[in-house]
Amino acid sequence: MSLTNRILIAMVAGIVLGCLFNVALHSTALPESLRSALDTYIVSGLLDAVGRIFVASLKLLVVPLVLVSLICGSSSLANSSRMGPIAGKTVIFYLLTTAIAITVALSFAVFVGPGDGVVMEGVANYKPSVPPPLVDVLVNIFPTNPVQAMAEGKMLQIIVFALLFGFAISRAGEPGRRIASFFRDMEGVVMTMVGILMTLAPYGVFALLAKLFAEMGVGVILHLAGYFFTVLGVLLFHAFVTYSLLLKGLTGLSPRILFTKMRPVWAFAFSTASSGATLPVTLRTVERRMGVHNSVAGFTVPLGATINMDGTAIMQGVATVFIAQVYGVDLSMMAFLTVIITATLASIGTAAVPGVGLITLAMVLGQVGLPVEGIALIIGVDRLLDMVRTAVNVTGDSVVSLVVAHSEKQFNESVFLDPNADADTNQGGTSERELLTPTG
Ligand code: ASP
Repeated sequence: MSLTNRILIAMVAGIVLGCLFNVALHSTALPESLRSALDTYIVSGLLDAVGRIFVASLKLLVVPLVLVSLICGSSSLANSSRMGPIAGKTVIFYLLTTAIAITVALSFAVFVGPGDGVVMEGVANYKPSVPPPLVDVLVNIFPTNPVQAMAEGKMLQIIVFALLFGFAISRAGEPGRRIASFFRDMEGVVMTMVGILMTLAPYGVFALLAKLFAEMGVGVILHLAGYFFTVLGVLLFHAFVTYSLLLKGLTGLSPRILFTKMRPVWAFAFSTASSGATLPVTLRTVERRMGVHNSVAGFTVPLGATINMDGTAIMQGVATVFIAQVYGVDLSMMAFLTVIITATLASIGTAAVPGVGLITLAMVLGQVGLPVEGIALIIGVDRLLDMVRTAVNVTGDSVVSLVVAHSEKQFNESVFLDPNADADTNQGGTSERELLTPTG
């Protein structure tokens, strides 16, 4: 069975088992001792440990992978002087797709009116976190100490350092060529690590989802059905309609192939709710299964995981309208414009980890004079939505990478069209199946 199918089966099995555990944990028909053993040894014990080890192993690859890919990418690009245009296009597309996402979200939410008739509950208990000022977000992308930036996993700082380093490699003559070849070898090795880890994904995905659903259950959705399904609807619309139109319109490539190849990445994004932890898998998929050259993907994917959050912006758009409706506040045209601008910028400052979208939502609400306490209303269903919006976030990164690579001719269409493509270039081609059985 292919790895993709194994991951998808693990995902479904994790959700089903998690829901069953949730019922069991709350069922008075079972003796208390059994329920507590189930919780202690299985849910908070085994599943929790496997899930956390899985996420930690994904995260451990992020810094080395971003560093080496970006150095390789920028050193080869700097020679061809395409670095500026690629960076420019990427940032413009990221901002544009986010602005589209939030505009659709606002229109949809105004049309549906998810907050009409909802009563405020639990608002008094909510303490909003303070989002960082936007200027700091911008100034902080320049590192004073690259080692510290790596140790702390400051993605934008690592990106700036790697870009400079790659650029310097291209200017440094023979020593630069030697260093570049070292980093190319490193990239091959780290990518192979990603491949090895992907083979363990079914267990990790299963454990993460089983634990989450065991603890959460899905009953919370019922109380906030209007809000939940509005966000979900816009997320699905953006993923399947907006991205399809963009991809087809700008590159002529088939969205169906894109979505098929995105499936394992979605499983990672969905189960970890973190575009940061998913980054190694997104990068490997975009490069090796979709045919985007490393010189583009090495830049666009890490940058996207950090600054491009269309799914998060969608949640923020719907949440703003929802909270305004619950509090009976009429939003003016100017307020909508402010939300579009702030949410687009907020998505840059949203860290690629679970739940941060809610913190930057405080910034958006503050800008239009809505009470941040309103966030308490939607917290109950946020984790579930976070999983879906993270999958949308990583899809956006992949689509923009494809569009930019296609326009820069840094794209191998035959890889994109090949359903079995996952060529490990260093070893002359390693398929998913071969990755499962190391040959030594
Ligand atoms: N979990 C999201 C991500 O990592 C960020 C958020 O919306 O909270 O992409």
